[in-house]
Amino acid sequence: MRICVLAGGVGGARFLLGARRLLGLDEVTARADSPHRIDAVVNVGDDAWMHGVRICPDLDTCMYTLGGGIDPDRGWGHADETWNCRDELAAYGVQPDWFGLGDKDLATHLVRTRMLDAGYRLTDVTEALCARWNPGVTLLPVTDERCETHVVVAGDEDGTGPSDAPAADAGDAPATGPRAIHFQEWWVKHRAQLPASGFVHIGADQARPTPETLEAISAADLVVVAPSNPVVSVGAILAVPGIRAALRRTGAPVVGVSPVIGGAVLRGMGDACLDAIGVETDALAVARHYGARSGTGLLDGWLVAPGDGPGGSDTAPVDVDGIPVREAPLLMTDPDATADMLTAVIALAGLDLPGASR
Ligand code: GDP
Ligand code: CA
Repeated sequence: MRICVLAGGVGGARFLLGARRLLGLDEVTARADSPHRIDAVVNVGDDAWMHGVRICPDLDTCMYTLGGGIDPDRGWGHADETWNCRDELAAYGVQPDWFGLGDKDLATHLVRTRMLDAGYRLTDVTEALCARWNPGVTLLPVTDERCETHVVVAGDEDGTGPSDAPAADAGDAPATGPRAIHFQEWWVKHRAQLPASGFVHIGADQARPTPETLEAISAADLVVVAPSNPVVSVGAILAVPGIRAALRRTGAPVVGVSPVIGGAVLRGMGDACLDAIGVETDALAVARHYGARSGTGLLDGWLVAPGDGPGGSDTAPVDVDGIPVREAPLLMTDPDATADMLTAVIALAGLDLPGASR
């Protein structure tokens, strides 16, 4: 079976751990003979230049997680990281000072930046980095071109955005209308606390999916939308022109897993992104946002946590605006629990997993 997973960072990476487990691709020795394959189409909307290096947070989170090098507490970056370079940069007073650039992580960015400067595509750079980490999943940036998520926030005269101070009297520091800041600045520096009115994808007009990504979608037996942030991870993947069409065209069923459980996102601030685009933080609202492939949307099925469905049958999927919805435990506590989520996805898609290892 060939499975193509649309993935962001932490949620995508954890889902891939379970997918790799179910398909028996955990062991390096098992991979060569396996009839199964997992391609991850990974978001690049979070990517940024900082201090002269190219940073690809979601690709790196997937690579380190699957390669066994992730920091288990933070969920991103290297385990046993040190921060000497960041502290030295701060001593020089250079900006940005709010981004946690770890010493070990920096080596990845240096290799990447040097290869990009030499003319390699991000796809090839990622493959080269993965030769060390051996993730057992083919990590594919959705595009090799820049397609960066920026956040529309209210601006004021000095460009620092609205202050936390009580509203000033009229005539005092007048607002100058909206401006867009890089997603990382909004997410990391402002902790998603600056009110956002939308997202723009800088470069989307020029960006194209890579041939590898298009092949992964068209040749898949199953496409899974990971429980990743629907707006700035999956939404940013869908913002690359040609991806939606490829997903609507593929012969594979497209099934999504809800990142919202019991009306809340897990570990994070993803609800701020849903708020910004006017989508309720609710598993079925996210499904409606993606839409039914039988209509003009993407989904042939949607998996929600127990109690989050529309009610009705315990066994047969229940239709929500044309999307078959079924309930299953969706907490990715460990790779086995997550593997069971993929089993539920495969069943909802009406497929069998030949030669399943579990
Ligand atoms: P990011 O790029 O690091 O923000 O990660 P993703 O976009 O891939 O995933 C973030 C999303 O993962 C959040 O919206 C969470 O709700 C979701 N998430 C995290 N852990 C779990 C889990 O155990 N189960 C489910 N269903 N979703 C989860
Ligand atoms: Ca991300």
